[in-house]
Amino acid sequence: ASPLVKRVSPQFFVQVAVPSPLRRTFDYLPLAEHPLPKPGCRVTVSFGRQELTGLVTGLSTETDVPAEKLRPLVAILDEEPLLDEHLLALYRWASNYYLFPLGMALQTALPKQLREGLTSTLATPMAWQLVRKNNTEHKVRSSQHQKILDLLASYQVLTAKELSVLLNKPARAALLSLQAKQLVEEVPLSSAAATTAQLATQPLTPDDEQAAALSTLRAAKPGFHCYLLEGITGSGKTEVYLQLIHDMLTKGKQVLVLVPEINLTPQTIERFSRRFNARIVAFHSGLTDKQRLQGWLEARDGSAHIVIGTRSAVFTPLAKLGLIVIDEEHDDSYKQQDGFRYSARDVAIYRANMLKIPVLLGSATPSLESLHSALSGRFQLLSLTKRAGNARLPTIRMLDLKMQKTQAGISELLLAEIAATLSKREQVLVFLNRRGFAPVLLCRDCGWIAHCDRCERSYTLHQQPAQLRCHHCDAQRPVPRHCPSCRSPALEAMGLGTERSTGYLTEQFPDFPVLRIDRDSTRAVGKLDTMMETIHSGIPCILVGTQMLAKGHHFPRVSLVAVLDADSGLFSADFRAQENLGQLLTQVAGRAGRSDIHGQVLVQTYYPNHPALQQLAAQGYGSFARQLLQERALGHLPPYVHFMLVRAEANQPQLPLDFLRELAEQLWQEAPRELKLFGPMPSPFLKKAGVFRAQLVLQAPKRSILQKLGASLLNLIETNSLNRKVRALVDVDPIDFS
Ligand code: ADP
Ligand code: ZN
Ligand code: ZN
Repeated sequence: ASPLVKRVSPQFFVQVAVPSPLRRTFDYLPLAEHPLPKPGCRVTVSFGRQELTGLVTGLSTETDVPAEKLRPLVAILDEEPLLDEHLLALYRWASNYYLFPLGMALQTALPKQLREGLTSTLATPMAWQLVRKNNTEHKVRSSQHQKILDLLASYQVLTAKELSVLLNKPARAALLSLQAKQLVEEVPLSSAAATTAQLATQPLTPDDEQAAALSTLRAAKPGFHCYLLEGITGSGKTEVYLQLIHDMLTKGKQVLVLVPEINLTPQTIERFSRRFNARIVAFHSGLTDKQRLQGWLEARDGSAHIVIGTRSAVFTPLAKLGLIVIDEEHDDSYKQQDGFRYSARDVAIYRANMLKIPVLLGSATPSLESLHSALSGRFQLLSLTKRAGNARLPTIRMLDLKMQKTQAGISELLLAEIAATLSKREQVLVFLNRRGFAPVLLCRDCGWIAHCDRCERSYTLHQQPAQLRCHHCDAQRPVPRHCPSCRSPALEAMGLGTERSTGYLTEQFPDFPVLRIDRDSTRAVGKLDTMMETIHSGIPCILVGTQMLAKGHHFPRVSLVAVLDADSGLFSADFRAQENLGQLLTQVAGRAGRSDIHGQVLVQTYYPNHPALQQLAAQGYGSFARQLLQERALGHLPPYVHFMLVRAEANQPQLPLDFLRELAEQLWQEAPRELKLFGPMPSPFLKKAGVFRAQLVLQAPKRSILQKLGASLLNLIETNSLNRKVRALVDVDPIDFS
């Protein structure tokens, strides 16, 4: 007998994305007696044996799950969606495009508390302002009180915390006593008297090129436009951003500003807050979880006007987003290199396209991808070819190392130039992209080299503290006194690192501060800020640093930039090496001569006649990059073709190759004609942290071809006969081929 079918009102199933590597959403029954949760709300669900926080992605009237397996939601955490439809759609697109499970993609960008299912109410941030009715100048006796009144007069509103920072001591007690005198009042920050349309400081008068760029930007009809602002270092790109941002603020729109990882410094944030009377939320690594959540919520409900952040800020919910700015758009840190391997630049462009708003990419050294888009008309190109104000581009000269003696990697000629610069009371920046003391520790008697077994690469010798450190897996061990192989004491540090050069320069110039700026020396909180203060005080000093120093910083007193070793990028097998070298050299060089004093750049090399160096020095990055683009076209390389990289890892060298061989064979059977496969081959970085690696590269002339293959690629990976022994991942638009 057939079961009795009772007609009920339509049954809805709740589709939930949970943090699971399974690439699908899961269906649940709604919670009895509760309204249906809206897409974008968080729910608690039972998943296997655990309870997880998931996100509702939709409702449906059908499900493949058999009735007896369907389970109801455990709880609904939000009444109103945490993420709006638009942001959900953005995540959905990114999850599809980067072949990464939606539930896990959502995880990576939500603040921790929200991931853990905590409530999401916005605390009302309070701030202080002057009492308006008091037009008369009020004299107060305490100098601290006077300082507070002065600060509030110039900043309009400040939180107690901001005031404490500005005063260098706690401000709350003083504020309370000023409040008692009815001189200041505490108000919710969002209702504070500050209006975003009002500027805190006046804009600079744009020069001709800035004015031209701005008028193009302002003339655009509403809608999606992607601009590439190609402006040499110090040409005033930031000024263009600031003026365009102001337009948006006066229209009541929010602005999202993306910056590279190491550029989100107090100086950057200060530059924005000095210009605008606006609520600025900055997402940087120094925030507590609570602060991060608060900023996220303020962005979401529209009370933050400007959001500045690194890569993951591209997923910040913004109720009234009107413009996205991507500074230093070429920077590698926009691409996440593990887990959810998205490019924040590309996600931002997609987001702007969905919202029909403009997106402005800026760089002195645009990526070849963006340059290609601009030259082919997909993006609109805006150029700034002159330095702003009185600053001039520095002259670049090659120092031929073949002709000279060096000590600690510094040639005699360079040493003399450093001395001359210091004696003019100007600053010197010495660039060396390798931290530690020396990259190799070698036994002079038997040739033994200290190396990390887990990576099969040499250990880097560090002096502070003294240890051997693997820069690939972070393994550490004490420095041996004798060669472990032949017992000889003749161990020698070979090659050059920032510690070594710093030590040598300190000996040579004992009267001047020598500041080392790299990941090691700036690890402690506040260390970088202190060094930046020294630099900005303008006293003559020497900065020795890695690429941390190369990007974005504005050092008006640096007039000599020295590149100790330009050669490592010249002969690399990576097809991006020349592009990266050009960007790095140009950016480092761009730190010189950024004010009235003329700058010079000295590049030490054994190959002063190398065409890449010659062209960079003589014609600049712009023409160098256009030349590289032609080579890429001839070589059928990105941006003229597109790549997807499958990397396989296992604890035996053969397994990843076998895995990929099987995958490649199966792929061939369904491959479209335009698809090319490279490999399987062992990765250039064969063994990393004890794991053997191999890779397979898929190439096609169009992204869509690779995208269509995505689903079956993932399927083949999951059903590979070695799937249990090999870990495989897919990197879409990879930039790391090591
Ligand atoms: P970029 O972002 O291109 O490196 P910045 O915007 O940092 O350049 O500008 C470099 C310097 O030039 C800054 O000190 C800035 O204040 C100054 N500057 C920018 N635009 C102008 C202008 N129109 N007039 C005078 N100075 C300017
Ligand atoms: Zn030895
Ligand atoms: Zn290692």
